[in-house]
Amino acid sequence: TGLSTQEVIQLEHEYGAHNYHPLPVVFSRAEGVYVWDPEGRCYMDFLSAYSAVNQGTLALSSRAFYNNIFGQYAKFVTEYFGYEMVLPMNTGAEAVETAIKLARRWGYDKKGIAPDQAILLACKENFHGRTISIVSMSTDPSARAGFGPFNPNIGPVCPAGKGSLRYNHAEDLEAALKAHGDRVCGFLVEPIQGEAGVVVPDEGYLTRCYELCKQYNVLFIADEIQSGLARTGKMLAIDHENIKADVLILGKALSGGIYPVSAVLASKEILLTIRPGEHGSTYGGNPLGSAVAITALSVLKDENVAEHADKMGKIFRAEMQKEVERSSSIVGKVRGLGLLNAIVIEEERIGGGKGAWEVCLLLKKYGVLAKPTHRNIIRLAPPLCITEAEIMRGVEIIKRALTDV
Ligand code: PLP
Repeated sequence: TGLSTQEVIQLEHEYGAHNYHPLPVVFSRAEGVYVWDPEGRCYMDFLSAYSAVNQGTLALSSRAFYNNIFGQYAKFVTEYFGYEMVLPMNTGAEAVETAIKLARRWGYDKKGIAPDQAILLACKENFHGRTISIVSMSTDPSARAGFGPFNPNIGPVCPAGKGSLRYNHAEDLEAALKAHGDRVCGFLVEPIQGEAGVVVPDEGYLTRCYELCKQYNVLFIADEIQSGLARTGKMLAIDHENIKADVLILGKALSGGIYPVSAVLASKEILLTIRPGEHGSTYGGNPLGSAVAITALSVLKDENVAEHADKMGKIFRAEMQKEVERSSSIVGKVRGLGLLNAIVIEEERIGGGKGAWEVCLLLKKYGVLAKPTHRNIIRLAPPLCITEAEIMRGVEIIKRALTDV
């Protein structure tokens, strides 16, 4: 990469969260037990990235030491999205966990919430991943049953048990903040609820929630793991409302499916509340993942992917709308933004106990792969490189399956 040891360390210090305190050495090459820094100094590696590189290759330095790619990626990704710092993780769930810890820490250190009293609000029908604290927020029995006990003060139900937060109802958030605002550190929200069935909120909902968060000094945390990165026709789904989350969570397409890479982006004021040794991940910020993410993000801009997704999505929904309007159609509704769409099947119009699953089996037979979310909803989210001809071909097949089921 041509960067010196000092330059690498400086980049990482400026743009990467300070959750590690690496020894001041940069790995730029390795073989067997030996590693070399950019100036050609050779060292024997007696850590093996905390026992990860037992086979002895340099895809991983761990954050015990510096690597020559992460700092550049940290600068790249923060400038790309207009944030001051990034905390790198691997999977979506880990990034959400990181955001939760960050919001709590910020709540105690900056907002002055009493110890262990912080509340993190989320919406009903949310999906943020599968770890214990995340399923503690879930209202989906299949995500929770048999996995208790759960973490308190996290999710759509306030501790006093006063109602619960419906998605797309800003008045519910307002009521919760009125009742418990002093204790709320963050509001975690999917700009489009993907797993819930591609639920697109009304225009203005996210803006209203954002304003309420400002009013009550609460972090607005956007989980863009599914909705982000050009999928909905903008770089981020919240860009449709021109708001900027205090904490932005990215995953999935951040690496274009090549490698697990996730990230939490925020200001220094927020991210620096986590200090060296207090949070981390062996693979977070590894050089391969960092390089992959730079490339995946570059492709999105270089190839105007968001614009394309917007255009293709409009064609797709217009075509599917014709199906909705056909008198004997089993589709009640088509909805979505960009290329994150869903059709809602009216099961009683099919009869015979059939639903989205049977439609998906028929789709497979005819050559299109899609999956139900819930009994009657089919998510349709093709790769963003899809052409207009391919959209039309997919639409033909979908219409055929909907008629034949
Ligand atoms: N958040 C959202 C909105 C998601 O859609 C997902 C995955 O589907 C996750 C978080 C969890 O990501 P991962 O499966 O990488 O842990």
